[in-house]
Amino acid sequence: MRFMQKQTSRPQLPGMTAAELSTLVSQWGEPRFRAKQILDWRNKGVLDPKRMSNLPPRLRDRLEAFIDCSPIDLVRRETSQDGTRKYVFSLNRPRLSGKMIESVMIPESSRITVCLSSQVGCVLDCPFCHTGTQGFTGNLNKAEIIAQVLCIMQDLNEAPLPPDLHQNITHIVYMGMGEPLANEPGVHGSLELLLAPDGLNISRRRITVSTSGLIPQIERLGERFPVNLAISLHAAENELRNELVPINRKYPLEQLRQCLDRYPLGHQRHITLEYVLLDRVNDRECDLEALCRFVRPHRERVNLIQFNPYPGSPYRGTPRERMNEFAQHLISKGIRATVRRSRGQDIMAACGQLKADVADKARHHVDGEGD
Ligand code: SAH
Ligand code: SF4
Repeated sequence: MRFMQKQTSRPQLPGMTAAELSTLVSQWGEPRFRAKQILDWRNKGVLDPKRMSNLPPRLRDRLEAFIDCSPIDLVRRETSQDGTRKYVFSLNRPRLSGKMIESVMIPESSRITVCLSSQVGCVLDCPFCHTGTQGFTGNLNKAEIIAQVLCIMQDLNEAPLPPDLHQNITHIVYMGMGEPLANEPGVHGSLELLLAPDGLNISRRRITVSTSGLIPQIERLGERFPVNLAISLHAAENELRNELVPINRKYPLEQLRQCLDRYPLGHQRHITLEYVLLDRVNDRECDLEALCRFVRPHRERVNLIQFNPYPGSPYRGTPRERMNEFAQHLISKGIRATVRRSRGQDIMAACGQLKADVADKARHHVDGEGD
């Protein structure tokens, strides 16, 4: 029992700040530069003390004994023909032990985007989303969120991408499993480390948090970490949005409108309104008109997402032709609109289909967020 307690309370290397690591290393009687060395390894995706070759053996042993260096384990990796990789990780923390999460790495010629999970499952229950329908198991902590980035970094070092693709992670999107803003401690903590100059040092212009619209939490995000914001809109009229995004009953569109108008935006930045097109549910003329009325063209853009079906899902995706028509109409009204490109279809990694089951198959969609 005492051993268990020691295990659970060990600091977790992926989530440690430079200051925390420095204090710990000083307590062990090591010179301060050792903390910097450990941090440099960590920030490169090396989490195994045995591989931290410039550390003395006694310090590597101490790290192994007193720090939880890898709070998640890679269980499976699938690679698509287009280079997209889907990762399944298992969690080690006793309460979530053995639970699975998924992350996706999407390479392009000029960027690599990593899509992170923030929760196991989701409490919000949007009826078109597989993650939502599986219920909620728990929140990831900041170390488990950052560890997804670091493990993918390590994987990219060990198995580099073809030379025509970008080689380093440039962009982060919180669009995997879970509602990030329902897990503020984990997500804020991870954002702090992603942004910190002595952390992963990623620009806020290259980080996007996607939310179904938790208003007080969006306001706090804007105050503390004004990263790019994506809103799962899916309907621009309350009755339909109450059905598709049930949190709308608590935070209706009028409140969302005011909240989005206040969200801080950098120069030439936009809020992304995500709209998954469901055949004859939210793709009718009246839906399009409501959407045109809702959008602020100078501050917002619309990302039309193809629906990813899953077993037993009650919806069908809008046909491609109608999706293009929908986009063209928005564009004709001066609204920036894109149809989200689909990546990694052959490995089936997915928006809204990610779930904590290794056998699950899904598809993933990417949009060109940030620069
Ligand atoms: N919970 C957050 C982020 C994760 S979901 C949110 O809802 O924004 C990432 C995106 O995938 C959201 O826009 C979500 O609405 C969308 N999505 C969910 N299920 C989907 C499905 N079956 N097909 C396509 N997109 C889906
Ligand atoms: Fe949760 Fe987002 Fe899925 Fe809705 S769409 S159930 S908020 S993960």
